[in-house]
Formats: sequence, structure tokens, C-alpha cells
Amino acid sequence: MVDDADLAHLRRCIELARAALDAGDEPFGSVLVDPDGQVLFEDHNHVASGDATQHPEFAIARWAAEHLSPADRSRATVYTSGEHCPMCAAAHAWVGLGRIVYASSGVQTAGWLAELGLGPAPVRPLPITQIAPDVPVDGPVPGLDEEVHELHRRRVR
Ligand SMILES: [Zn+2]
Repeated sequence: MVDDADLAHLRRCIELARAALDAGDEPFGSVLVDPDGQVLFEDHNHVASGDATQHPEFAIARWAAEHLSPADRSRATVYTSGEHCPMCAAAHAWVGLGRIVYASSGVQTAGWLAELGLGPAPVRPLPITQIAPDVPVDGPVPGLDEEVHELHRRRVR
């Protein structure tokens, strides 16, 4: 169930994804939020550096491991413009973070990138639920997924 507060955080993720694109990077953005709705950390994709592991969800997992207790991690939510890839889903689960809400799914993204001639990725778009079965997951969100799709279209214009 995705509520209005969730939608607001997802919109911030899409803004971050747009900022990444404007900076010459791939359009993915994510935020880490505590149970009171406070944003603790946010980041966007930084793979243009040449390091293809610089995904925002991975940065969040590392930040959370360094700054939050295990209990606080389990109560935190990660919002993201595009569903965690298997690497990031694994990192999320290894550090014991809580719920994930994404605007567009990994399978959607893989299909869009194939259409745009940008795929395939070197890693299969397995759903988070296959990598980290105990993590509560919501997404994709109709409407917001199309905004993410539009950002990917801009990559080839
Ligand atoms: Zn990733």
C-alpha cells in the first residue's frame, strides 16, 4: 500500500534521478527515511565516474551500516526511482534495512533500456523479492513509473 507520504518521497527520488541525468549520469535516485518520515540520506547514481557499482541504493546501505543501529535500520524505509538491482537488494538485506518502495520495477527498466538500445545490463533484473525474500516491497507506482520511463528516453535524445 503506497500512501501520500510515500508518493512525496518517490517524487524526491525522481528529482534526484533527473539531477543525475542533468549531471551526465544515469537517472536513478533514492532516499532513506526514518519511521517519523525524516529523510536521513539521499543520493543518485554516480556510474559516470567509471565505477558501475555506484548505485544510490548501495550508497544508502553503506551509509545505514555506518550510522544507524540494527534496530533503526530495520525500521527505516528506502524509496527509489527504480527497483534495486540484485547487488543493491543484497546489500540492503545484508545491512538489515526495512521496507522498499520503488516507482518503476527492474523488469520495466530492463524493457525500456532494451527498446532504447541501452541494454542489456550485465546483471539479470531479478526482483528484490527473489534476492531478499523477507524485505517488504511496494511498487511499481502507476504514473510515477512513466515519469521514470521519460527520464530514460531522454538518455538517447
Ligand atoms: Zn543497484
